[in-house]
Amino acid sequence: MQRLSGIGVSGGVGAGRAVLLIQRAQVLRFSVAASRIHAEIARLDHARRRSAEQLDRIQLKLPERDLGALFEAQRLMLDDPMLLPRAAAIVSDERVNAEWALQRVFDHLGAIFDGVEDPYLRERKGDLADVVGRLRMNLTPGGAGFRDVLGECEAPCVLVADELPPSIAAQLDWNKFEAFVTDAGSRTYHTAILARSLHVPAVVGLHDATARIVPGTMILVDGDEGVVSIEPLPEVVRDVAAASVRRRARDLESHDRSEAGRLHTSDGRSIRVEANVDLLGDAAFAMSQGAEGIGLFRSELLLAGRPADELTEDMQYEVYRKLLEDVRPAPVTVRTFDIDEDQLASGEHRRESLWTAGYEVPRSRLGLRSIRLTLRRRELLRTQLRALVRAAAHGDLRVMFPFVSGIEELREARSVLAEARDEIQARGTPSGPLQVGVMIEVPSAAFTADVLAAESDFLTIGTNDLIQCCLAVDRTDERVSHLYEPLHPAILRLIRHIRRAAAARKVPLSVCGEMASDPAVLALLIGMGLTQFSMTPAAIPVARQVIQDIDARELRTVAARALKLDTAPEIEQFLADALTKRRMLERH
Ligand code: PEP
Ligand code: MG
Repeated sequence: MQRLSGIGVSGGVGAGRAVLLIQRAQVLRFSVAASRIHAEIARLDHARRRSAEQLDRIQLKLPERDLGALFEAQRLMLDDPMLLPRAAAIVSDERVNAEWALQRVFDHLGAIFDGVEDPYLRERKGDLADVVGRLRMNLTPGGAGFRDVLGECEAPCVLVADELPPSIAAQLDWNKFEAFVTDAGSRTYHTAILARSLHVPAVVGLHDATARIVPGTMILVDGDEGVVSIEPLPEVVRDVAAASVRRRARDLESHDRSEAGRLHTSDGRSIRVEANVDLLGDAAFAMSQGAEGIGLFRSELLLAGRPADELTEDMQYEVYRKLLEDVRPAPVTVRTFDIDEDQLASGEHRRESLWTAGYEVPRSRLGLRSIRLTLRRRELLRTQLRALVRAAAHGDLRVMFPFVSGIEELREARSVLAEARDEIQARGTPSGPLQVGVMIEVPSAAFTADVLAAESDFLTIGTNDLIQCCLAVDRTDERVSHLYEPLHPAILRLIRHIRRAAAARKVPLSVCGEMASDPAVLALLIGMGLTQFSMTPAAIPVARQVIQDIDARELRTVAARALKLDTAPEIEQFLADALTKRRMLERH
């Protein structure tokens, strides 16, 4: 038995056969069942035929003979035994999907081209990349996607991924997966948040689990200890399986247990706790955990796995209306699509120009994303806002804009909202009022919170992004994830600054990052004067208990002292000592 150590981000123990999912270089790799190998090879063949037809058509249209010759070279590559037959052999020998096999062949041939002396021949790698890009594009239409293939794996499975963005995680059938592990990640890694709300044991930050775990091997994941065991003893697996059945039964029971109600600290300060919800189906669960509303609905997950224009206004309207119905009379806050170019493209790349399809786009969470992207793709934003304006007729609905960096973006977004409202009114369709808020996730927004508050109905601090932007730490990069420090003095000072700005303008302020789901940090934030929180549903029962146990007045003194300290470890230690001395949070 071999053991790997990582960061346990979602508690519990699960065991099952490993299914690999790798999306490095934007190419998904997954293990396919023996019965699917035939279908994967047929996909390769289908892609070859379609690509050949397209190249023939292009050649016919070209007036220039030289250009024609160029495509002739690509046409020949398509039939080269080193390309597709080699990929088919990889599919059957290694039981992997067609896209991955094609990528392997491309990497291999590309390296050969790179080593060639002749510059003319070396440049032919570009043609090869074109051909492979075209084949990749033609693999998808009508073919099986990763959802279909992963859906066919035999439960119980454990997902082993290099990284697992929520957009992919959200599409999986989690009844089949007992646990997941990833190479990348940290405690606040997006998918870790999702894991906790799915109640799936998870260990992240394993660095090379995808290289060390062979598909189909039995593995055991201990999310409490942050340990993964490869080929554990069969009797241990049996015990874990029995415990898993009991855990699932308990989860179902807790769904029915309603704990909602007004919350106060022990000295009577009123506190509100809402839920961060990623999927429509989670809203009822969130309410059963004691949420007083939906403080953040991550609407971009509606776009997962499809081109953006397939998500119509009507489809969105139905989702937002249903959300309101599921939590009525509680409020629902929908954040407009927080998506970046890559994520948008992964649903849309089939529609892109043939010549750009398949090439890698560097990932940059600081690039064209969120409000910046949707203000450029105005129709995407306007459609979403039309759906929201309509859904607002059915309950207390709010909209908030993510990743705003300054007032101009808020003004522009508001003008798109006004256009959307005019369109709905011109149609004579029923609509309702929408409160408009801003997520404070970028330091520039934090410093200008007073300006933003003056033109907003509410502000929400998105600490996950605020911490990563302020400390310049990518939360999915395990090499620097230890620097991601919610208790860094800079973060606490920024939060204090935002709170003062919101209070001066009398604008409601909440915290919707994961930070607040840590009981000690929640106590500190309450000491700093924050009274509204939104968090992952699974964290709510503990948060409610914490709130009722603490004394906000005493915590004010604790927070004031903590904010005078120089480093995160000092603050952490001081906070732990102060809470212990006051016997707060002892049960947690
Ligand atoms: C945040 O940044 O704190 C937040 C809630 O948004 P997300 O985690 O979805 O980026
Ligand atoms: Mg964010």
